[in-house]
Amino acid sequence: MNDGIMDPMKTIIKKVDPNQIDEKVILEAGNILKQGGLVAFPTETVYGLGANALDEEAAKKTYAAKGRPSDNPLIVHIADMQALEEIAVNIPPETEELAFHFWPGPLTMIFEKSGQVPYGTTGGLDTVAVRMPSDVIARELILAAGGFVSAPSANTSGRPSPTTAQHVQEDLDGKIEMILDGGSVDIGLESTILDMTVTPPMILRPGAVTVDMLEKVIGPVSVDETILGSESDQAPKAPGMKYRHYAPKAKLTIVEGTLREEVLAIRQLAYAAFREGKKIGIIATNETEIFYTHGLVKNIGSRENDKTIARNLYAVLREFDEEDVSEIYSESFAVQGIGNAIMNRLEKAAGHVRIFAAPIVKQQKYRRIIFLSNTDTSRGPMAAGLLKHQDLNQEYTIDSRGLVVLFPEPANQKAEAIMKSGQMTLEGHSSIALSADDLQEDTLILTMEDSQKWKVVSEYENIKNVYTLNEFTEDNTEIPNPYGQPLTAYGECYEIITKLIEKLTNKLNTFTQGGE
Ligand code: AMP
Ligand code: MG
Repeated sequence: MNDGIMDPMKTIIKKVDPNQIDEKVILEAGNILKQGGLVAFPTETVYGLGANALDEEAAKKTYAAKGRPSDNPLIVHIADMQALEEIAVNIPPETEELAFHFWPGPLTMIFEKSGQVPYGTTGGLDTVAVRMPSDVIARELILAAGGFVSAPSANTSGRPSPTTAQHVQEDLDGKIEMILDGGSVDIGLESTILDMTVTPPMILRPGAVTVDMLEKVIGPVSVDETILGSESDQAPKAPGMKYRHYAPKAKLTIVEGTLREEVLAIRQLAYAAFREGKKIGIIATNETEIFYTHGLVKNIGSRENDKTIARNLYAVLREFDEEDVSEIYSESFAVQGIGNAIMNRLEKAAGHVRIFAAPIVKQQKYRRIIFLSNTDTSRGPMAAGLLKHQDLNQEYTIDSRGLVVLFPEPANQKAEAIMKSGQMTLEGHSSIALSADDLQEDTLILTMEDSQKWKVVSEYENIKNVYTLNEFTEDNTEIPNPYGQPLTAYGECYEIITKLIEKLTNKLNTFTQGGE
């Protein structure tokens, strides 16, 4: 076997169909492990980097291949309960109940270790972490390897954990003997780690087996307070949890607030980056992705089904490494059920960098501007078209509406001709009547004439943010109504609106950075 020191070794990649396992491949992989080599394999949580857990030298190779600090202990994977008794001592009585409910499955338990387990595998600790995976390929491989396979996640230390064989290959090709490709994993986040050497048992790492699930079986468990707390300066009890983990290359920031605030804040950040010629990455969900207009948006799954979010998290973090984004912003997720594990990994990937959405959202007073005219066919659409061509330092939805629109009409032909002479167009415009839905808190309504303003104000009680365009821009030039007049009247009107829109732009641009 290649010693892996002088030349990069050739990593054999074998596809394995979990529904029809090729025993020859498993035997070959098992033999590599028995001889002290490394084999990456699928488990239901993430891909593991397997080695013989009872072989000190194999543990050293594992740390070298991953570039992992050697004080970060490995989890020993077993396939039956007898194996547990060989590697652990003083096994507490609750273990049986827990194993009955959660093994095989995504729960790792920590016990005092027996003399069989080398310190190389446990990072020098007197305890050993043990898990019985449910994935059939994992199970067969463990048996073929002699029953004890240490397996940290099969990634380069610090990178997002691998959820496909391709991820493993990206990180470990040429560094390990073999990769078993069993397709995408099911859960996508590492196992829950439960320390059984303390009373009550303590969760050191959240995973798919949640606090509630454990408590239903054995009563109260405690939770290592460093799991979510960026405030705590204590070292986590699971040594590996102290390292920055799962991190994409670009800086990741978690945005916290209500979902609406998060979306608005991220939109603002994306727009600001766009104006600086940069592109940011956005971690969004099924429910929110359509709201983003700038930035590279990746949909991580559905808020209705947080399992999809868990399953996609690492793949999405890895995908951003292929993209040219200067920073990544992520929405937050509810910390209940597997959401605890999702936020725990996201916090680590972000190095605990988070920002609050509300103060960012407050920096922008208006998000939508509506130009209101009588019929929404000339002056309003012209004003909207002109404002869309301005250099605005915040993002606005710019629309026009009419007070008397009986049916949708295209723009007035003379208005269109004038806009064309200014290299703009009203093509495709169709008039729309103002409705109560348009009157939101963050909407600024600018009318062409006084009479339109008073009509809206008298029709809708409590309405705020309605001004005539010249009132708002503090310019008393009236906007004439060109309807039924020759083209020159439209031209004059266009000139006046242009001047007012420039003033409007200046005023809007003073609103940034907490201006109003
Ligand atoms: P990974 O194999 O990449 O999922 O990481 C294994 C995790 O299990 C790391 O965070 C380790 O620190 C933790 N772990 C393994 N063995 C022990 C142990 N004996 N005591 C505490 N934590 C452990
Ligand atoms: Mg890991």
